Amino acid sequence: MANFAELPFKGLTPLAEHDPVLYDIIEREKNRQWRGLELIASENFTSKAVIDCLGSALTNKYAEGMPGARYYGGAEEVDKVEVLCMDRALQAYGLSPDEWGVNVQPYSGSPANFAVYTGLLKPHDRIMGLDLPSGGHLTHGFYTYSKKEGTRKAVSATSVYFESLPYRVHPETGLVDYDQLQRDAGLFKPALIVCGGSAYSREWDYKRFREIADENGSLLMMDMAHISGLIATQEQGNPFEYCDVVTTTTHKSLRGPRAGMIFYKKDSRDFETKINQAVFPALQGGPHMHQIGGVATQLLEVMTPEFKAYQVQTKKNAAALSDKLVSLGHSIASGGTSNHLILWDLKPHKVTGSKMEKICDACNITLNKNCVPGDRSAITPGGVRIGAPALTTRKFLESDFEAVALLLDRTVKLAQEIQAKSGPKLKDFQAALVGHPGVKGIKDDVNKMATSFPFPSFDPAEMKYKNISGPDAA
Ligand code: PLP
Repeated sequence: MANFAELPFKGLTPLAEHDPVLYDIIEREKNRQWRGLELIASENFTSKAVIDCLGSALTNKYAEGMPGARYYGGAEEVDKVEVLCMDRALQAYGLSPDEWGVNVQPYSGSPANFAVYTGLLKPHDRIMGLDLPSGGHLTHGFYTYSKKEGTRKAVSATSVYFESLPYRVHPETGLVDYDQLQRDAGLFKPALIVCGGSAYSREWDYKRFREIADENGSLLMMDMAHISGLIATQEQGNPFEYCDVVTTTTHKSLRGPRAGMIFYKKDSRDFETKINQAVFPALQGGPHMHQIGGVATQLLEVMTPEFKAYQVQTKKNAAALSDKLVSLGHSIASGGTSNHLILWDLKPHKVTGSKMEKICDACNITLNKNCVPGDRSAITPGGVRIGAPALTTRKFLESDFEAVALLLDRTVKLAQEIQAKSGPKLKDFQAALVGHPGVKGIKDDVNKMATSFPFPSFDPAEMKYKNISGPDAA
């Protein structure tokens, strides 16, 4: 065994030297992000300042508890970080600390939502949220039904520990079916109604949600994860006017590090104690102070005129993409968008969302398959979800998004052509993509376009792999 005292100190060895295998994977990932067109609606490229916080000394510190009341010593500096983050969070959403409080410790969006349910509800209390195939999130509750076994399965912990009933979008309009929600809520009498979603391109009618909640004695929670950047800049309606609780992730349109936050109304119901205790000690341990630092510094940016301009441009870009696709004869759910994303219905092309996702991936365009209004099964979604936040961060403008629409139009036509030969099976379709000259043609154009735009987080000039087609093709 080595003599510990004689061993050299290696704590300052850079990753490239310490672990070349992992370093190489990260460099490949940087290359992938830089050379592709990132259209996943929930993703973004965070700033160098945020990355600096994530890789900082804050990661070393345990700080269970709340600022000023920790279970560990040495928390005087991280206390300042968390207080700064909480103050900025309230400020960024224009909230008075007398009326609203915030917990910035949730590790991410899913734990934030579960902390609200844990703190404010009893086991088996009833929750209504937007159905997953209608654009809701798993944490708003989700069951599946197995025809073979004749049983239902609670997929989401929200449905394991609570009773959930979904509401849906109308199959023709693609908008939340508020009348049906009102009827069902009248029967189900939920303890909590959740608004917000992962794939909904229109405004939320908070006033109507509040009325339905009040008719049934329900709490109202908005999960603003997707649109939290748009809400902070008043580019979407204000959920704080009507909701009891508002949760969010911080890494989507808000462009921060991966984390979550819970805003709660301060009144006689004492949500503050219930939510804080649900986050810790009920569900989590020590807060991730490096993340909280990253959120704090991102919130500083959120309050700048530049961030407002970014959100305005994101909306313009999503609309430009939608309009261009419609002008090319494509079908967009609800006819367009009021926010940062669109749902492209591919059923008229007889191409599944899964096939479109695969061919786009092969062309270095990243998006995801998604249910569109009228879909019956979440297993074979009929469309794709496309978001503008990430490419807008890279300074894409409307004309650039129109060019992206042309690339997507070429891609779906190529998918039809390939499918006509490969047949309907996804496996055969995927095999036919390999080495296909049509795929290469689109990919080359995608790479050329993407690499002509700036990139935040890291400097492309310093990347290990500079070949725009990626390390594999080098
Ligand atoms: N809520 C909504 C509306 C989301 O879209 C997501 C993630 O996509 C989440 C919650 C969960 O966030 P996380 O993946 O950070 O747990």
